[in-house]
Amino acid sequence: MVELDELQRSLAGSVIDPASPGYDAARRSFNAAMDRRPAVIVRCRGAQDVATAFDFARTQSLEVAVRGGGHNPAGHCVVDGGLVIDLSDMRRVHVDPAVGTARASGGATWLDFDRATQAFGLVTPGGVVGSTGVCGLTLGGGIGHLTSQHGLTCDNLVGAELVTPGGSVVRAGAGENAELLWALRGGGGNFGVATWLEFRLHPLDRVVGGRLEYRGRGVADVLRRFRDLVARSSRELSCQAVVGVDESLTAALLVAPSFTGPSDRTREVLETLQSAPGLVSDAVCEQTFLEQQLLFDSPYGENRHYWKGHFVSELSDELIDELIRCVREFGRPLSHILIESLHGAPKDVDGDFSALAFRRAAFNVSAMAVWTTASADEEHVAWARATARAIEPWSLGGGYANYMQADEPLERVGAAFGGAAFDRLQALKTRFDPGNVLRRNQNIPPL
Ligand SMILES: Cc1cc2nc3c(=O)[nH]c(=O)nc-3n(C[C@H](O)[C@H](O)[C@H](O)COP(=O)(O)OP(=O)(O)OC[C@H]3O[C@@H](n4cnc5c(N)ncnc54)[C@H](O)[C@@H]3O)c2cc1C
Repeated sequence: MVELDELQRSLAGSVIDPASPGYDAARRSFNAAMDRRPAVIVRCRGAQDVATAFDFARTQSLEVAVRGGGHNPAGHCVVDGGLVIDLSDMRRVHVDPAVGTARASGGATWLDFDRATQAFGLVTPGGVVGSTGVCGLTLGGGIGHLTSQHGLTCDNLVGAELVTPGGSVVRAGAGENAELLWALRGGGGNFGVATWLEFRLHPLDRVVGGRLEYRGRGVADVLRRFRDLVARSSRELSCQAVVGVDESLTAALLVAPSFTGPSDRTREVLETLQSAPGLVSDAVCEQTFLEQQLLFDSPYGENRHYWKGHFVSELSDELIDELIRCVREFGRPLSHILIESLHGAPKDVDGDFSALAFRRAAFNVSAMAVWTTASADEEHVAWARATARAIEPWSLGGGYANYMQADEPLERVGAAFGGAAFDRLQALKTRFDPGNVLRRNQNIPPL
């Protein structure tokens, strides 16, 4: 196609079309249920390539998708018949140890980021799976193994460079476009393509972490211990829990602590979990942060996913019983419920600092349906929806944008921010993307 040849000549990066040898690998996303065939994938090398891709999409009337790490469960990074702005060749991470910041290019993954920053014994709180995109995760919030210590990932965002759909390069940071920086702390990929994001770093190279695994009737009791522990613990402990069933359909619980206090206090802090009934495996130890970041690694593009959940103000005994009932009655070992604690540092900042409204929440509780065959789509989607309905009585009114599917109504997207913040976000959207070119995301429509 002559237009694609011209496009290729105007790029530093490369054009991939359905006839290219790497097409199938390039259109693959983490969620295997998203099997889409873009007309063209533009693998960008920098801001100029991104602007060229936007320009080409506009002149050819192609819908645009943006690909960072390809992890979004809604499959927003691929679009049937459209153009993908693919940032996977832009993965450089530059660390400035003297200033204590790191700049991640638009397609860098958490593995890229952690390797670069850990070389200097520094971290920012990121995602728990290495292949997740740094920018995609940050723009939606960011919950992980250091959330209680250092806040959401977006709380550590100090600067950004975006290419808007109109082709302008815009920067946000200290003293420059402060309103845009506020919006990028949670408002998603609505305002432009980030060619880099800059983060504040913190000294850390080792944590006491690993997995604690439990089986059987006692898992409800262990979940109560987990809840009570994080409620009273200092911000030196981040903690996540995963409830499901094992291959024999016995209730199964995984708790992943990440303790950064003095190691001689570990026993005292984690005693309540390590002495709990039903413990079948205790792999907690002092390890490097890079080792901790491998705990949840999962296969890319192999399984089908549908996620739905709520931020809750408490993990009541009734809710715990309800969660265990949901996983046991469904009885599918891959599907599970993720419970992320939001105590500690996320509470330090308010709505003037970031666009997000869920800081009052105690936990993020998400039903994660995971399966392998298309014939089982309906029952898994139905389970995730029914489980989210069971959690709803405890909901603060919104879900986590980073885990949302494409079928969430506008009210649920809006509730993640709250009314006043959503109005501010819409005003910015109108300024930076009035034509809603960037709509394959948790969309904030222009006014
Ligand atoms: C296995 C797995 C583990 C996860 N772990 C965590 C976790 O620990 N903590 C957490 O908070 N979330 C986690 N998530 C959710 C994740 O943060 C979001 O799905 C996020 O959108 C993924 O970003 P990505 O770049 O990998 O995805 P993509 O699908 O490539 O991108 C998703 C969207 O992000 C936007 N985007 C991406 N890059 C850019 C950019 N450079 N500029 C502008 N917009 C951009 C675009 O709107 C794009 O459509 C996880 C998801 C999966 C599948």
